[in-house]
Amino acid sequence: MKNGETIYYSCGTPTLAMLKFRISLLKYLFRKNKYPLFTISARQGGLVKTYQIQKKLKMSKYVKFNDHIYFSLTMPRWPSEPFDRMVARGGLNIASAGTPYKKQIDTAILGITGRCRYGCVHCYEHFNLNDYDVVPVEKWKEVIKDLQKIGVSVITFSGGEPMMRYDELIELLETSNHSLSDFHLHTSGYGVTAENARELKAAGLIAAGIGLDDVNTDRNDLFRGYNGAHSQAIEAIKYFREAGVFTYVNFCPTKEIINSGEILKFHEMLKDMNVGIIRWLEPRPCGAFLDADENIILNQEEKEFLKNLYINLNTLPEYRDYPLISYEAFSEAPENMGCMMGGNSLLYIDSRGNVEPCVFLPVTFGNILFEDFPIIFERMRKAIPKPLKTPCPSIQLRTAIKNRKDIGSKMPIQYNEIVTEIANLYSA
Ligand code: SF4
Repeated sequence: MKNGETIYYSCGTPTLAMLKFRISLLKYLFRKNKYPLFTISARQGGLVKTYQIQKKLKMSKYVKFNDHIYFSLTMPRWPSEPFDRMVARGGLNIASAGTPYKKQIDTAILGITGRCRYGCVHCYEHFNLNDYDVVPVEKWKEVIKDLQKIGVSVITFSGGEPMMRYDELIELLETSNHSLSDFHLHTSGYGVTAENARELKAAGLIAAGIGLDDVNTDRNDLFRGYNGAHSQAIEAIKYFREAGVFTYVNFCPTKEIINSGEILKFHEMLKDMNVGIIRWLEPRPCGAFLDADENIILNQEEKEFLKNLYINLNTLPEYRDYPLISYEAFSEAPENMGCMMGGNSLLYIDSRGNVEPCVFLPVTFGNILFEDFPIIFERMRKAIPKPLKTPCPSIQLRTAIKNRKDIGSKMPIQYNEIVTEIANLYSA
């Protein structure tokens, strides 16, 4: 295997790497004192249940990049100290989110800057974009420690465009504890060069998720509101991969690309670029899309088309050499895992310091500039104690949030403005 090469394996394929992984499970099993929440029992959401869920979700591939395996974007790479820590805290008991059997939280996204030169049609930070940084770097350092104390597996720096706060991004990476979490970056690719990709890798960056939405350059650049966005993203993928940073693409499957008939061509392009994983993030009515036509939400036919394509890409032999697809709306559907926002599996802190349940749900439970993170987190966990087996709350709460905004509420709206609607999600 060459340095920087990405290889995709079906989970059923017997490989040395998979054999080693299975043997490592024995370490978790027999060292109960070190891995107290590792369990096989399906009743506690353990390994048997996780295997069943993985099959149901069609996550039937894994990706090998250099010396590590990536099973999903919400787990640290294996083998690694963060992976071991995740297992010790019940991170593999994915069906037990919100219970004492899973203390680990999969991902936290931190919007470290509101600065960005692009004008993405779907930007979830739309209401926060500005030309200065609000949260001081020392505060981010404190919060990263807090996130690691509550057990966050993957901490992702986002924005705005985090490359526009480059020196402090490096500082955050260099000063963080890399034995507790993996660190990822979400970038449009703006400002990424071969040299700074190597510097980011040296500072401890494990993976980079690049925003790219189309095989067609013009359509992509129009969607991203920036001439040259497509080529920037392509170059960034290449630079990160060559620097030894695992690459994935954050892709918004809009009606336009579905109806263009070129969605498979887009995936072929990413396969040829040796991208590890493609994360599908369906359009959600928040940020720049909050005031958009309701038609941005995919209809049943479009969702069915995506579901079939997803299953084919992840399971059919002819697509074996394609990147693993992570289709969030499919995993989070009520009949599958449900919505894991609010610290059940994920949380978001925006570029103004607001703690929110999900990047797509602009409701703040408090601000890290005015209150300690653990207090805000506890408030959010009380309001959202377990996964929600309902359609995406971002869609369900859209009208309520938009109405508050239209009568003058600042975005994101405060939790106490929408407390009843959030509580009602559990009784729906
Ligand atoms: S609100 Fe829940 S279901 Fe909707 S995008 Fe966020 S995590 Fe997913």
